[in-house]
Amino acid sequence: MSKRVAMQLDFSATGRLRVWLVTLAGMIFCAGAALFVDSFNFPTMTADEFRRAIAVDLLLPSALAGPLLFLLMSKIRQLAIAQRDLAKLASTDSLTAVLNRGAFTMMVDAYLEQSRAHANLRSGALLVIDADHFKNINDRFGHQLGDEALKLIAGTIKGMLRGADIVGRVGGEEFGVFLPGATPEEARTVAERIRQAVGSLKLPLPAISDEITVSIGGVTYNGLATYDHLFSLADERLYGAKATGRNRVLFRHFTDPPLAA
Ligand code: GH3
Ligand code: MG
Ligand code: MG
Repeated sequence: MSKRVAMQLDFSATGRLRVWLVTLAGMIFCAGAALFVDSFNFPTMTADEFRRAIAVDLLLPSALAGPLLFLLMSKIRQLAIAQRDLAKLASTDSLTAVLNRGAFTMMVDAYLEQSRAHANLRSGALLVIDADHFKNINDRFGHQLGDEALKLIAGTIKGMLRGADIVGRVGGEEFGVFLPGATPEEARTVAERIRQAVGSLKLPLPAISDEITVSIGGVTYNGLATYDHLFSLADERLYGAKATGRNRVLFRHFTDPPLAA
């Protein structure tokens, strides 16, 4: 069982348990309240009336509040699940299942923002990965196979990353990867591995496999940075990789404050 499926089952089990616990707590509370209110009459009751009052105080709240609370809590849980699924849907690219551009930008931005308060978070790398001559692939093999190739590229990129890394589709045939805390050496190694892994992808049509390559522009940084700035530096390196033959990785390093020359 994958870790993600196990976590989902866990979430669902704890959610159900919470519904039952709140229902039980609600019933106990209602019974307690009924007993408390009735307790003022206890001294004047006969033994028989007392037994009946206790039974009514315990049974009535259970019979009325129990099902109502259970229904209410179940609906709230369903709403929470729907809201979580919607949020996931809104942040996921429907073709490749990685983050979409908006969600990717937001997550990297949030990390960079956090680094303002935590000095140990002030390094990492941003890669921009663009499929080479992808228009030709669509033209020669069709848009559907092009889509399959994009899914495989996304899967390959994901397979090369650690749990904390962030990947998103930032354009039609363009992906962004953020590597929090990666050193320049680690970032280069990851980028090179991605380039090589995409280059040796196997597709149903062998001819297309030979043609799928990516160019990667990357920036490593130390200090405070903004997403837009990092992206423009990585994009500029990507442009350089395209201009010098494609299927290659080019990097630059950014330090804030800039080191004296
Ligand atoms: P370069 O090496 O300079 O990046 O060349 P390129 O052909 O990849 O770049 P260009 O920007 O000229 O074309 C991008 C192509 O990506 C054109 C478009 O049809 C294709 N594309 C964009 N989104 C999708 C998609 O969702 N599915 C498919 N199949 N193709 C897409
Ligand atoms: Mg391209
Ligand atoms: Mg492009």
